[in-house]
Amino acid sequence: PSVFEKVPGAPEDVIFALTSAHKADPFPNKVNLGVGAYRTEEGKPWVLPVVKKAARIMVNDDSLDHEYLPILGQDAFRKAATQLILGADSKALKEGRVGSAQCISGTGAVFTGAQFLARHYPIKGATCYISKPTWANHRAIFEGVGFTVFEYPYWDAKTKGLDLKGMLIIMEMAPAGSIFLLHPCAHNPTGVDPTPDQWRQIADVMAAKNHFAFFDCAYQGFASGDLDKDAFSVRYFVERGFELFVAQSFSKNFGLYSERAGNLTIVAKTPKIKDQIESQIAKAQRAVISNPPAYGSRIVSLVLSDKDLYQEWNQNLKSMANRIIEMRRLLFNELTRLKTPGSWNHIVDQIGMFSFTGLSAPQVKVLKEKYHVYLTDNGRISMAGLNTKNVQYFAQAVDDVVR
Ligand code: PLP
Repeated sequence: PSVFEKVPGAPEDVIFALTSAHKADPFPNKVNLGVGAYRTEEGKPWVLPVVKKAARIMVNDDSLDHEYLPILGQDAFRKAATQLILGADSKALKEGRVGSAQCISGTGAVFTGAQFLARHYPIKGATCYISKPTWANHRAIFEGVGFTVFEYPYWDAKTKGLDLKGMLIIMEMAPAGSIFLLHPCAHNPTGVDPTPDQWRQIADVMAAKNHFAFFDCAYQGFASGDLDKDAFSVRYFVERGFELFVAQSFSKNFGLYSERAGNLTIVAKTPKIKDQIESQIAKAQRAVISNPPAYGSRIVSLVLSDKDLYQEWNQNLKSMANRIIEMRRLLFNELTRLKTPGSWNHIVDQIGMFSFTGLSAPQVKVLKEKYHVYLTDNGRISMAGLNTKNVQYFAQAVDDVVR
């Protein structure tokens, strides 16, 4: 008999299961609104032109080789990533108290930060709070490293907006020094972000309670098309003097999903504390991945360090953000034209890759079975899956299931 006989089977990942179900579906007008990956107007993945250009430069660069990167990754990439999120003129950067670790994309950066906190956060029994709802991996990662995970209110089903009051109450009630996982922009799955003034209120409570802010930034530049605007919350917290972590992903804003280019930015009180944290993260990273992969991070650092490439990237980024914003408008117009019951303003008010439609699980089931439209049971749609050819079909399907 096998020693593994009693191993229970685990459920398949919901998002990846949706993608395979969509792939296997022979229906010609099928629509995949599950996975959070950008699609063109033709419904195809997009290799950013600036990424192609950078890749061509790299192929012809004989100084590049396949030697191991340092444990904490490529220096130029780490520097460029921290500058991108904090702003090149950040005081914390100038004071030498910003550290970083190149990680296996955003997921790896969240894991690396969570693992460090599980081992070294000084408050015994500290709890991690995640938004309700959030990206499913947040709970999986924090529980995986041993944290108890609670939720703070976020989505208000009535207003289809932010439940700021509920969020602040839980932040006040949480034991001092709790860890709060925050989405700096383009909240996944709701597409609802706090306004600058609401961030100020959140920072007030978090400062008063000495909570630790862990930002998970998977969509910088993707939300508004403006890299600085999307970094407002993080920069504001740094200005306020918080020690904090930021997990950064370059999957979406560079379209480098499979290359796993990510970074953990660490803002500490002093350069010495920054060194202490970095050294522990290096020690831990050695035992998990040994050292990170080079291809994606080389593309990112090349683009971020060259004025022309950087500008071109900004244009690429804007074109993705704008196409998504345009799809929001088209979907909203179609639903309005069809006089679909309910209010649909949230479709245009929400931001980033996703829209939380408010559709229920039974409605989603009909969308899938009758219309071959694939989306998660919570009613989240990836806006990038829509285009001028399928938006009418989708709106009609929605109109049918809500009537
Ligand atoms: N965090 C959030 C909120 C996300 O939505 C995602 C991707 O969907 C990630 C992190 C990480 O993505 P990746 O590991 O591909 O960088």
